[in-house]
Amino acid sequence: MRIVVLVKQVPDTSDVRKLDLNTGLLDRDAGEPIVDEINERGLEAALRYKDDNKGTEVVVLSMGPENAIKSIRKALSMGADSGVHIVDDSLAGADALVTSLAISKALERTGYDLVVAGNESTDGNGGIVPAMISERLGIPLLGFLVNMEITEAQVSGERQGDDGTANVHAGLPAIVTVTERFDYARFPNFKGIMTAKRKPVDTVTLAELGVDAAEVSSLDRTEVISAVERPARTAGTKIDDDGTAAATLVEYLATNRLV
Ligand SMILES: Cc1cc2nc3c(=O)[nH]c(=O)nc-3n(C[C@H](O)[C@H](O)[C@H](O)COP(=O)(O)OP(=O)(O)OC[C@H]3O[C@@H](n4cnc5c(N)ncnc54)[C@H](O)[C@@H]3O)c2cc1C
Repeated sequence: MRIVVLVKQVPDTSDVRKLDLNTGLLDRDAGEPIVDEINERGLEAALRYKDDNKGTEVVVLSMGPENAIKSIRKALSMGADSGVHIVDDSLAGADALVTSLAISKALERTGYDLVVAGNESTDGNGGIVPAMISERLGIPLLGFLVNMEITEAQVSGERQGDDGTANVHAGLPAIVTVTERFDYARFPNFKGIMTAKRKPVDTVTLAELGVDAAEVSSLDRTEVISAVERPARTAGTKIDDDGTAAATLVEYLATNRLV
């Protein structure tokens, strides 16, 4: 069984996150880059299956700039066996269409039985790349799972929606997306950190994935037309409780249609 975990490197959500107002793209140097936490939870689920099923191979795959190797090494230190790093200058500012194309090609090249992704990233928040990969590879998608069971032949789990819980399953190969209902990830131990440095990482360009620049530029890509600074936060309304605070608060909530 080969499980490929899609890991996105994102700016730390507790850090400064800025848009480059000239390009409209995220300024990825503004904050400390980290492994998106939802992907650590996906990796944890894959590693737990590996713990109980010797012979399972866990591969982490990431498309990102050169420094995304840091996130891949972090995932390797948690216990993944090897990494795939898609790096190509022409991928800077890639939209979901291009991202899903590059990742799908890399998955075909790497081989997989199960692909584990997050339900959505914390920077682009599209929640669309896994569905695009499912479409491109012609494999079933089990999305927004709150738990998961993997066997040699199938993956199953529960999906919680507004209208109740659905029990879903699919034969392998398949792709799933995990939600924050999955357990927190294990911390890398000292042995894991040391061995991570020696674990293999396959660094590939678009050309090595058989994707030529014409194919990428032919895609009807998302374009940022303009970007403006987010207005500075205002202090907000301060209410001193001189006995009228409750009434003032209700009026404030009603006026701002918050109730
Ligand atoms: C503020 C902002 C707004 C954006 N708006 C748009 C937009 O409107 N339309 C658009 O097409 N693109 C947009 N993008 C670009 C988009 O973020 C990238 O294309 C990104 O690579 C994929 O989209 P996502 O982050 O929304 O992924 P999602 O679909 O939210 O990601 C879900 C899961 O897919 C996997 N995954 C996603 N990206 C990668 C990766 N690079 N490497 C490995 N696994 C990955 C991860 O497992 C992740 O948890 C935006 C980016 C930013 C920062």
